[in-house]
Amino acid sequence: MKSRRVGITTTVPVEVIYAAGCIPVDLNNVFITDPNPGGLVEEAELAGYPRNVCAWIKGLYSTVLRHRDIRTLVAVTQGDCSNTHALMETLELIGVEVIPFAYPFDRDRDLLALQIEKLMDRFGVDWAAVNRARGRLDQIRRKVWEIDRLTWQENLVGGWDNHLFQVNCSDFKGDPDAFEREVDDFLARLKGAEPRREKIRLAYIGVPPIMDDLYDYLEERGARVVYNETQRQFTLPFETGDLVERYRLYSYPYGIFYRLEDITREVERRRVHGVIHYAQSFCFRQIEDLIVRQRLKLPILTLEGDKPNRLDARTRMRLDAFIEMLQ
Ligand code: SF4
Repeated sequence: MKSRRVGITTTVPVEVIYAAGCIPVDLNNVFITDPNPGGLVEEAELAGYPRNVCAWIKGLYSTVLRHRDIRTLVAVTQGDCSNTHALMETLELIGVEVIPFAYPFDRDRDLLALQIEKLMDRFGVDWAAVNRARGRLDQIRRKVWEIDRLTWQENLVGGWDNHLFQVNCSDFKGDPDAFEREVDDFLARLKGAEPRREKIRLAYIGVPPIMDDLYDYLEERGARVVYNETQRQFTLPFETGDLVERYRLYSYPYGIFYRLEDITREVERRRVHGVIHYAQSFCFRQIEDLIVRQRLKLPILTLEGDKPNRLDARTRMRLDAFIEMLQ
């Protein structure tokens, strides 16, 4: 298994993959940083994926097709996306080995431990190796937590950088040492920096955005995202060294009510004025917007994105109106 590249469809216990000497590749990050992510979506549609399926899933499919060195995929079958099942099947059809991983809906510790141990069996590693990998990755995670703290507490970091460093903790860009150097360089550049002046503090909740200019657009208008909910969860921001507990505390796979506990705590701690709830077109998570709206006691703007693109005129107008309302 040495140095084999292993695709992942979302955050999984990546410690297991690193412990086996393999390289995890978060397909979402590869898709969205492709020079032409829209082309990848179109390729999947040409292959037969329906138009009314989420663009992330189509992008993931074409990304695996393009990267022929990814012959193994760890796919989250529970706790992420129901479309992953069909994605797995279409990839199996072209010969990709699929290893399923399920987060138990009720956060049951025994079931989660069993899933992690089954994954360890598939990769042929033991707890000692996995915990060594955890120790190494935690050194980097701590530095990324510091970037997050500098975002909301010291006002030194913009929303995009906060998003980017945290989202990359799903796979550490396949090279933890190189990623750590990037993090160190970024932190060093912040020394002595002037605090940012945006007056409006925003939370961004939901799956990461498919458009890449949202954060810059907000900051041009005097509003800054100081809390990226899902991206922060990708850093497993919990001090415990117990790996199973770590992935039990991780909120993203476990339903909206558990996620709302984290969101409510963080928006208060970070003195957020308004919340952007991002909902991807054709995503089942759009339904959860009605629960978010009932439970959160802050102004909420629900944004919908479809294809990888820049913000469209209508979305810009809605953002303008929201920021104006918060002023
Ligand atoms: S945005 Fe929704 S539908 Fe699309 S991959 Fe993510 S969970 Fe699935």
